Amino acid sequence: MACKQFDRVAQFLNLPEKTQAIIKWPQRSLSVTFPVKMDSGEVRMFSGYRVQHHLALGPTKGGIRFDPDVTLGEISALAMWMSWKCALVGLPFGGAKGGVCCQPAEMSKKELEGLTRRYTQELIPFIGPQKDIPAPDIGTDEQIMAWMMDTYSMQVGYPVPGVVTGKPVTIGGTLGRKEATGKGVAFLVKKITELLKLPGPLRVIIQGFGNVGSVSACQLVKDGAVLVGVSDSSAALYNPKGINYFQLLEYKEKTGRLAGFPEADEMDGVELLCQHCDVLIPAAKERVINEVVAEKLRCRILAEGANGPTTPEADHILEERKEIFIIPDILCNSGGVIVSYFEWVQDMQSYFWSEAEVFNALCRILSGALDSIMQFSHENKVSTRMAALSLGIKKVAEAKEMRGVFP
Ligand code: NDP
Repeated sequence: MACKQFDRVAQFLNLPEKTQAIIKWPQRSLSVTFPVKMDSGEVRMFSGYRVQHHLALGPTKGGIRFDPDVTLGEISALAMWMSWKCALVGLPFGGAKGGVCCQPAEMSKKELEGLTRRYTQELIPFIGPQKDIPAPDIGTDEQIMAWMMDTYSMQVGYPVPGVVTGKPVTIGGTLGRKEATGKGVAFLVKKITELLKLPGPLRVIIQGFGNVGSVSACQLVKDGAVLVGVSDSSAALYNPKGINYFQLLEYKEKTGRLAGFPEADEMDGVELLCQHCDVLIPAAKERVINEVVAEKLRCRILAEGANGPTTPEADHILEERKEIFIIPDILCNSGGVIVSYFEWVQDMQSYFWSEAEVFNALCRILSGALDSIMQFSHENKVSTRMAALSLGIKKVAEAKEMRGVFP
């Protein structure tokens, strides 16, 4: 998917073949296998990866995913998208991504700590505040980042908060990082709602109720929207009269799942995506909006909280469906990496900002990137996704061309 998108944009931009070849492939890929002592006394082997897509603009940046579907191919695609995203919003980073193939929900805290520390140990020569800076993604959180930072720091012999972002505030994290991605999604939805002059209250459906999905829901509900549908890996819930977000959150925190929540009907997860709403936010995994779903969507705004939720085949269909406005993933969920950048800057300077400073700066960058996309899309008569990818890829291509080929 990532390569198909790249090829299409490279052709559109008329990039020289040499430049295309240089920026298409990941610069560095690390594949590791390591043992972890499980609570049962058994020693289990796990596979992990870290891919650094390009280092033309600065160190690389990207999340760490703990998930059973993790493969080298998936991580490479996610690293490539991170490159275009960082370039689009003007951050001095290349893209990276990492992950371990595992089932975090079925592991104890001790087992997760063991896995995180052994994986980090394998990454030590590969990461660092000037080299490659991991962050949370699916299945990882502040605690995992704290263990990563501790493992790295113990090895080098002094505290290195800038080696990861998305850490707890007590050990050098920034205010606002945990909510950054979801708040960024809600901010952009608000901007597009104003642009399209959609009357309120907005009816919202969200796939995924983890970090991105639940924070987006919270912010949109606070802004007056009505949550009519929501799903996690256990169930998809729908109530056209509205689902009480705060009761739902309490239920999820208590039971660990959405299934069984009494104030809504359960339905098939794919069906939920196709229900009538103003805003649809996929905030779980890749490729959920395929050509079949794309034909059936009944939303006005598709806000891509997840990375790569829409397949290229679905994109062709959506390009014809002008009534649906797409906020493409590399803009929509970029709040996470933007505030990660602020965290890294604060760590490097040992000087910390207020939450208001973080969010004001975040909104300024998001607004600027949205304006550039709208202008490019208008001037070149292309979709918002083509515009966003073109702006990101063009910047990386220019940097690579300026730096030349070594030696
Ligand atoms: P989390 O692990 O916090 O949440 C993922 C959510 O997706 C969980 O609620 C999970 O369910 C749900 N889920 C998994 N499979 C399905 C399914 N088949 N149907 C419906 N829901 C499902 O991850 P994040 O919120 O961090 O990440 C979500 C997406 O956002 C990913 O694509 C990620 O790459 C992207 N993203 C995340 C950023 C961040 O800052 N965290 C930054 C930028 C992008 P359950 O709760 O049952 O496990």
